[in-house]
Amino acid sequence: MEEKVKAIVISSKDFKEKDKQIVLFSLEKGKVTAFLKGVKGANAKLKFAKELFCFGDYVLTESKVGKIVTSCEPIDMFYDITQNYENFSQGALILDVLNTVVNFNETNTALFINTLKALKILAYEKVNPHYVSLKFLIGIFEALGYKLSLNKCCCCGGLFVNRRFLCLETGEITCLGCKSPQSIEISNSVHTALRILSTTDYEKLSTIKLVSGSEKEALFLLVQNFEQRFSKKLKIF
Ligand SMILES: [Zn+2]
Repeated sequence: MEEKVKAIVISSKDFKEKDKQIVLFSLEKGKVTAFLKGVKGANAKLKFAKELFCFGDYVLTESKVGKIVTSCEPIDMFYDITQNYENFSQGALILDVLNTVVNFNETNTALFINTLKALKILAYEKVNPHYVSLKFLIGIFEALGYKLSLNKCCCCGGLFVNRRFLCLETGEITCLGCKSPQSIEISNSVHTALRILSTTDYEKLSTIKLVSGSEKEALFLLVQNFEQRFSKKLKIF
């Protein structure tokens, strides 16, 4: 049986001597695992189809060992993401997040479209790559029911004026009065960075400038929050 899916490679690892096992995030079926036979050689016809970030029309054929990629028509390789360490590290973070939250046989069209937007900006726009991964994570929390409360306290509903805190146990952002003992403080610059990123479209990310260093601090906070929410350690490069 043959099936055709529009998909992005989100994980790729060696399998036996000459093969690769890839994980695809597909538009039609969510997460799909497939094998690529004999693609490690320099002349292999489908060697491009095992690369991280490769977006294409994949043809999968069912076999005894699982699905095998029998053909792939590339749409965009997002090759530029791999040409710069910072871009690659943030792109790889996005793929790792996807590998955690996307399920087998469960479509998520909105997330698929957002992923393509993020990868496109990362590859082709002059933008701080951390802004892209942060924007992506903020969207993930919202899409999966953990929307960050950036304007008002999760508990009392009071607007944030001075200080605000993130409770890693619950993912809630609260005011000083409502914080739990183990909450960590979100600095003014990180709070501002998150608010700006949450309301700026991907297409406009190249036009904003956040306080230097706040993007890395914000990312550290969101990665911690993600790891707690999804009980998974992310690969940080
Ligand atoms: Zn409160």
